[in-house]
Amino acid sequence: MTSVAERLHGVQARIDAKVSQLGRSANEVTLVVVTKNHPVDLALQLYNLGCRNFGENRDQEAGPKAAELKKLIGDSEQPNWHFVGQLQSNKAKRVSEYADTVHSVDRPSLLDALVKASELRSKPLDVFLQVNLTDDPNRGGFSPAQFESFAEQVLEANGLRLMGVMAVASLEGQERRDFEVVQTLSQQLQAMNPESKFISAGMSGDYELALEYGATHLRIGTAITGNRTA
Ligand SMILES: *Cc1c(COP(=O)(O)O)cnc(C)c1O
Repeated sequence: MTSVAERLHGVQARIDAKVSQLGRSANEVTLVVVTKNHPVDLALQLYNLGCRNFGENRDQEAGPKAAELKKLIGDSEQPNWHFVGQLQSNKAKRVSEYADTVHSVDRPSLLDALVKASELRSKPLDVFLQVNLTDDPNRGGFSPAQFESFAEQVLEANGLRLMGVMAVASLEGQERRDFEVVQTLSQQLQAMNPESKFISAGMSGDYELALEYGATHLRIGTAITGNRTA
């Protein structure tokens, strides 16, 4: 049995090795540890191991967990919460109260709700545009063809900072093709706005490959947390 600490250090070592092999700089990569389906104790344990970025995909779970961790940490530096799952517009306000980053902006109605919610925040909400790399319209994300016009809308929106592109690789075996699409979209986006240069891609099974294609925000769950308890 490996411990959370061992798994975290193992993942960090693999990220460091890959980054240096690629000639990239380690400080351009953010490790978001996805704590979904795990209790707040695990988030606290990870916090004590130095993690400051946590990912969640359901508001019902994330809201209480973020509030509990905040209490447990007290006056120490607060972590950043990243919302990575499909988000209903009617939850936008709640999520924007504890999350600093929403990785899953995928449609105009959600954009409108987030703009409205961001009016109540003291600092802008960071957002990624999620692209759908499958043929299934029910999966989160918009199609690469809609990308530019949607990006323009986000860039014009108040209260939001467009960080870049987010994607989940579609099928095992197609990760290279998928990450290539993401990298191309990221270049298009940077031509529109150089600051929107970040790429949220890479999970437990494919983060090293994602780094080859320029990923800056890795969303890693089970490789660090172990199997889900719920
Ligand atoms: C659960 C989840 C992850 C983490 O997945 P693992 O395979 O456990 O690393 C990353 N991104 C999203 C959108 C998720 O829902």
